[in-house]
Amino acid sequence: MSGTAKAALGVLVGRPLIAIALAAAVIGIMLLHTHRQKTPVTHRVEHVTLSDAQQMQLGAQEYAKTLRQNGARIVASGPQFAEVQRVAKRIESVARRDKPNFVWKVSLIRKKEANAFCLPGGKIVVYTGILPLTENDAGLATVLGHEVAHATAEHVAERIERNRLTEVAATIIAGGVAFTPEQFIRVTALLGVGSSLPFSRKQESEADHIGLVYMARAGYDPHQALAFWKRMQRASRGKEPPEFLSDHPSDAHRVERVRGWLPEAESEYTART
Ligand SMILES: [Zn+2]
Repeated sequence: MSGTAKAALGVLVGRPLIAIALAAAVIGIMLLHTHRQKTPVTHRVEHVTLSDAQQMQLGAQEYAKTLRQNGARIVASGPQFAEVQRVAKRIESVARRDKPNFVWKVSLIRKKEANAFCLPGGKIVVYTGILPLTENDAGLATVLGHEVAHATAEHVAERIERNRLTEVAATIIAGGVAFTPEQFIRVTALLGVGSSLPFSRKQESEADHIGLVYMARAGYDPHQALAFWKRMQRASRGKEPPEFLSDHPSDAHRVERVRGWLPEAESEYTART
């Protein structure tokens, strides 16, 4: 490496903000084309800038990090592992019709926390702590349908767009470029792992709707979703509500809205059987 190049690199390493600005400027050119798209099932028009490939890369990086941090706790055999793989496979085959580019994969992590999430691009993480609440395959299908819906409806990309964080996301996608801790926190929060910038209520409700239709299309009785959300409603009144609810704020009307979408889900359920 020439002395000049070394000096230039030294300047960049010493000033991560300049490095970010440069990377963002370079990649920004690729990201100028905001596309209009329609969400599956609800057909809402939304605007996102990140392409499928970029969302997949963002999600894959976060997924690899999660697996690295939980290496010893990854469950790779046994009945809980089998259940998660079995249900995820059916939900994924439905979601694939809406997002054929995404590469779906699920991991089960032994953790008391009652939670699950799906990263942009189709990587799903389930904590064993949620299984007592889901109770059965249809309950788990309700959770996975909801989480996968956030990915197919590109809710993270929509949040990134709305919060004008596209350049920060692009910098992370570019790989390895230093970014400030504050920017990192904001983007990982958008990925749904942190909770300082959770999905909006509208997105939550939309994920309930799409998820309900997905579980029905996957062959699970949609009435079981209603039973699951009622269980969650009861659990939220307890001393320690499940973590799942802090990421997925519930309100008194959630169960009623789900009931309202039941006829649509029922017709999808009977159409396939
Ligand atoms: Zn959600």
